[in-house]
Amino acid sequence: MPNNSSAERRRYRIGLASSRTHQNDPQSALAQLLNGSRAAIENHLQPELIVVGRTLDAMGQLNLLAGYPHVERFPYGRQGGLMKLVSRVVDSDPTRTLDAIIYLMDPVDPSSTFPEAVALKRQCVIHGKPFLSTLAGAREWLELEATALGAAPDPRLDPTFDLANEGIALIAHDAMKERMLAIAERNFALLDKFAFRCATGTTGGLLNKLAQKIKGEEAGRHWVRPFLSGPMGGDAQIAELILDRQQCRRVLFLEDPHVARQHEADIQLLERAARTVTDYALCISDAECGERWLALLDKRVAMRVA
Ligand code: PGA
Repeated sequence: MPNNSSAERRRYRIGLASSRTHQNDPQSALAQLLNGSRAAIENHLQPELIVVGRTLDAMGQLNLLAGYPHVERFPYGRQGGLMKLVSRVVDSDPTRTLDAIIYLMDPVDPSSTFPEAVALKRQCVIHGKPFLSTLAGAREWLELEATALGAAPDPRLDPTFDLANEGIALIAHDAMKERMLAIAERNFALLDKFAFRCATGTTGGLLNKLAQKIKGEEAGRHWVRPFLSGPMGGDAQIAELILDRQQCRRVLFLEDPHVARQHEADIQLLERAARTVTDYALCISDAECGERWLALLDKRVAMRVA
């Protein structure tokens, strides 16, 4: 929840948008999200939703969150709706700022590569705010935040929290590798519950050293499966695991948004892979959100009915 000195917590303010193909029928990603997470939204989080025009039109047509009172309309994309979302992400005024973005992106829709779409994600990373671009990511985030407020866990999501059947990908750019190691050390017991961990080459080597320190030399040696280094194609190898739905739906990718990256295409490829299987995969792209996500994930895993 956003910090607030008053006794009453300020409700989250979430920017919401979706690509056209994710909003055009009752089984679309937008419909699945708002129907599936309806209780979390209406009964627990009660966020303010700032919704880009066409997405709000679709909500009306599909009768999604009908009657929900905390909704504000933003302009259509072509009139600058997404650009205004970027401005609100970086705004420090508590009456205007957005705390999270849910943007259900279809990777084959050209608008997903428009500058405002890229900037929206980048500014979320820079300002430590969740940028949720897949159905699975938005569902999980709403579930974790709602259960943190006391909501009953949604049993439909229980299978995804059975970590003995789940993998996780861990990737960190050079400036973020120390932070990744610190996060992994603090959350080691949780990460250890996953069926497997994989990583790009250098990140994976460092994580295996950490695991050797914690679990012993032999037991920690293969804690993480290292793929090729990111610039040599490791991101693409992990993307294939995700696309094949091979038990790896979660990616913690600590990006450094302040340097030009020679393998930018590979980084984007990995995110696009997650968006290609939007109902399955999710990417968390910054350390602040990653820490909170893992802490809440740990609590939610413990609530699972075996
Ligand atoms: P690395 O790759 O773990 O091999 O450094 C990360 C990246 O730069 O994508």
